[in-house]
Amino acid sequence: MENTQQLNQSDQAQLSTFEMALRNFDMAADLLGLDSETRSQIRVPERELTANFAVKMRDGKFRMFTGYRVQHSTARGPAKGGIRYHPDVCLDEVRALASWMTYKCAVVDIPYGGGKGGVICNPKEMNELELENLTRRYATEISYIIGPTRDIPAPDVYTNPQTMAWIMDTYSMAKGEYCPAVVTGKPLSIGGSKGRNEATARGCVEVIAEAAKHLQMDLKGARVAIQGFGNAGAISARLIHDLYDAKVIAVSDTRGAVFNEAGFDPHRAIEHKERTGSVAGLPGTEAIPAETILTLDCEILIPAALENVITPCVANSVNARIVAEAANGPTVPEADSVLDQKGVFVLPDILANAGGVTVSYFEWVQNNSGFYWSEEEVNARLKDVMVTAFEKVLLTSKKYKVSMRRAAWGVALSRVAEALKARGIYP
Ligand code: NAD
Repeated sequence: MENTQQLNQSDQAQLSTFEMALRNFDMAADLLGLDSETRSQIRVPERELTANFAVKMRDGKFRMFTGYRVQHSTARGPAKGGIRYHPDVCLDEVRALASWMTYKCAVVDIPYGGGKGGVICNPKEMNELELENLTRRYATEISYIIGPTRDIPAPDVYTNPQTMAWIMDTYSMAKGEYCPAVVTGKPLSIGGSKGRNEATARGCVEVIAEAAKHLQMDLKGARVAIQGFGNAGAISARLIHDLYDAKVIAVSDTRGAVFNEAGFDPHRAIEHKERTGSVAGLPGTEAIPAETILTLDCEILIPAALENVITPCVANSVNARIVAEAANGPTVPEADSVLDQKGVFVLPDILANAGGVTVSYFEWVQNNSGFYWSEEEVNARLKDVMVTAFEKVLLTSKKYKVSMRRAAWGVALSRVAEALKARGIYP
């Protein structure tokens, strides 16, 4: 077993992120018996833009940057997906993230395709003015292909509502009209949606509640461990505690992991992190080695930090009944079968973290209609979308006797394929 795991891990090390996404695609295409023509059409991105552009820096000099925008699919609607600012951004990763968005939007049945963007930069070394200059240049470079009915960006790693505001303003000024629907995740003052900030976590907690019902598991007192304590992780901790009375027993971030078997109040952990910059040292908890958070004895494990953390070796030691993937791609493909064999119920990323893009869709609907909803309405509609998607994936998983991940990809891919076939090929 150990040798197989090592072999699998080294196999996986040679795969690029996009090749890993294609593995899930191929499994879903096999499950559906998808014909080779449709398969080859969906497998690759529709459009990829690479832009090399100059940005004026604080010393008055210009520096060259490279950015990308990939539209994986527009079969079901405009491309939709975030923009990442990071030194490690590359075209392969943007491609993979764009394809994930296609399937994420399809699995929750919102009328979007998938896209993603990225700029190779280190925002930690740039000041506000440089970030604004970079964002406005990048927005101009991609303005040829984005737009409220073409491709709608949103925040991702190291981009935020302010970044979206600059893109919206740049696009609107060039068009000569107010265009809030060109991006989502905007500040509330210029058309952002109530409930957007906590939507990913709320959606994740709603599908965990559905999974618990299905497994006849009581969420009250259920032990929860969470890797990552940012937007997805910290808000998931707060909501699962407040809405369902679950017991958060461990959380972690880049600086450490903390544990208390009896559980602790996530509100206190959030305050502590706001004050000190980390969950490490939270009073009333003990420090544990960071990597052990994924293998703690608990009912619910929420990976909410990075991709590729659940390797076959880690999967072997997972001690949770439910794994809810708030992060994108936390489980490597080879670890999936290990979790399946152990009977762990996995809520796959394209379902578990689709709450964010769902409320982005609500934001776009509100921008297009000029009519804004209350937070209660946003949350009720989000719950409806998440529960419907969960039920459809569960039904498919039972029908084909496959894991929730395969079922989710199958549901998503069948919707994309159906749209593509209905539209045909022009000209
Ligand atoms: P974030 O930057 O707000 O938080 C990330 C957290 O992970 C931070 O607390 C950071 O300290 C922690 N972290 C980083 N490396 C870690 C490590 N090695 N061990 C433990 N903790 C570590 O980011 P986020 O928005 O919460 O995103 C987290 C994940 O959720 C990402 O995979 C992201 O793609 C995914 N996601 C987020 C959203 C959203 O709306 N925020 C939507 C869909 C998917």
